[in-house]
This record gives sequence, structure tokens and C-alpha cells, in this order.
Amino acid sequence: MIYEVGDIVQLKKKHPCGSCEWELLRVGADFKLKCCGCGHEVMVKRSMVEKSTKSIRKAEKQSSEKHN
Ligand SMILES: [Zn+2]
Repeated sequence: MIYEVGDIVQLKKKHPCGSCEWELLRVGADFKLKCCGCGHEVMVKRSMVEKSTKSIRKAEKQSSEKHN
């Protein structure tokens, strides 16, 4: 999986606020995630994110470039 800043990651674990979608704020050995439901920010190890990722929604690029 390729993780990039701005992507929306859906994790198997739900946040207490009810959302299971997280926006990637920083990627590296540790990821910084922001809950899409309540805005809570957490630092999580990359391996943890990889294990619990259900799907990734790539960030919408603002340019009209297409990569097909
Ligand atoms: Zn939340």
C-alpha cells in the first residue's frame, strides 16, 4: 500500500466518535492521523496502520492531470 499525506484511510477500528476514517497528516515510521469525525489527532506506528487499513481513498488532486 502506498500512503500519502492527504489520503483518507479507513481503519478496522472505529474511533469512539463513530468514524473509522482518518486523514493522513504525516507519513513515515510513525503516521499522524486526524479523525474525520471529530478532528482528534493521533500518532500511530506505520505497522499498526498497515495492519488495520481496510481501504485508502486517495487525496483528490486539484489539477486536471489524469494518470490512467
Ligand atoms: Zn473521532
